[in-house]
Amino acid sequence: MLTAEIIAIGSELLTPDRTDTNSLWLTEKLNSIGIEVKLKTIVGDDDARLEEAIRDALRRSSIVIMTGGLGPTEDDITRKIAARAMGRRLIFNEQVLEGIRAKFMSFGRSMPEINSRQAMIIEGAEVLQNPNGSAPGMYLEHDNRSVVLLPGPPREMKPMFENLVQPKLVAKAGDVRVVRRVLRVAGLGESAVDERIAPVYTQYKNPQTTILFNRSEIEIHLTAQGKTEKEAELLLDGLAGQIEERLGHSIFAFRGETMEEVVGLRLAVCGFTLAVAESCTGGLISQRLTEVPGSSVYFIEGVVTYSNEAKTRALGVDAELIERHGAVSAEVAEAMAEGVRHRAGTDFGLAVTGIAGPGGGTEEKPVGLVYIALSDDAHTEHRKLQLPGDRHLIRWRSSQAALDLLRRRLI
Ligand code: ATP
Repeated sequence: MLTAEIIAIGSELLTPDRTDTNSLWLTEKLNSIGIEVKLKTIVGDDDARLEEAIRDALRRSSIVIMTGGLGPTEDDITRKIAARAMGRRLIFNEQVLEGIRAKFMSFGRSMPEINSRQAMIIEGAEVLQNPNGSAPGMYLEHDNRSVVLLPGPPREMKPMFENLVQPKLVAKAGDVRVVRRVLRVAGLGESAVDERIAPVYTQYKNPQTTILFNRSEIEIHLTAQGKTEKEAELLLDGLAGQIEERLGHSIFAFRGETMEEVVGLRLAVCGFTLAVAESCTGGLISQRLTEVPGSSVYFIEGVVTYSNEAKTRALGVDAELIERHGAVSAEVAEAMAEGVRHRAGTDFGLAVTGIAGPGGGTEEKPVGLVYIALSDDAHTEHRKLQLPGDRHLIRWRSSQAALDLLRRRLI
């Protein structure tokens, strides 16, 4: 497999205000054509450090991609330093200059003299046209390495890579395709997941498996290589099937879908409607559900009843019930689910009440205690959860657990 490395150039990328997103995008593109990214570097506008970074990269990687620092100003050093690191000259290219001049003319402006710097091309490099900016990119073969210089702004870099660089690298990489799949799990801990599926995935080098913990979800990332996309997909099907055998319904997504997408799709397919009553999640469940396009087909209403009085007024929860059991209780959660279902006239009512903290906990009802309830025509059920984490996480995990309760009912 070919290996690549990426060098992102620009002092602004070393400040807390800017992130190098180009390399994330490039990594995905490179992976999809069977090229592995072994190293990424971010270098400021510093001649010596950049030269060192480029020399090191050329020593160890067959593909070296640089982004940024191709602008017209003194601190745009990539052209100059890349040429120096490869022992090549910079050659003035009249045609490129005319192209840049014409671009300025098309905006009704004359080209500032400093832009003529951008017409300096590394000896032996192919010029990559930049329809979205002034800086041209460059591609060259140097000592059996592919070297690519791309502009920094993503809207210039992306089309240049896709249209002019990717086809060259595809030809170089040969018949290797890499396909990824993300399985998502709810209701099981990280170690429980690993314990169950390690005996399966450790048997395979291809696909490769990585388990990631992400908020309240476990993600299982599978990456397969094949001669064709189909071959790689088949390998993924095989392993995903075995993982499903071990985790069953705890897997809620096989293609990286979110919980709200999965629940929404099931509601839509079955023709069911839903109303939600939320206390400690403050509308998060409704927000997540309505994030999905087309959710108006099944999501009818969401009510945030934060105070006891609101639970009674908006949902018809008996004030005495709240008095007797407390707002955070199984009884009240169920009454909220039933109340919202009746009032909205939906097939399902989903409710959450709990203590998100950091204050408000007692010995009897500590922070993280959450009740979720689901009501339909036939019956109403609840779950009692004791969730770890800070306020933000407790709220998010509550919303996830509530949606998962509905998902499991819909299976
Ligand atoms: P131009 O002459 O068109 O500005 P350039 O190659 O000189 O091109 P830079 O000056 O290095 O580009 O960067 C311009 C802007 O592009 C930066 O301010 C930043 O917003 C964005 N940018 C640069 N590098 C990256 C990166 N690695 N990831 C995301 N954005 C980037």
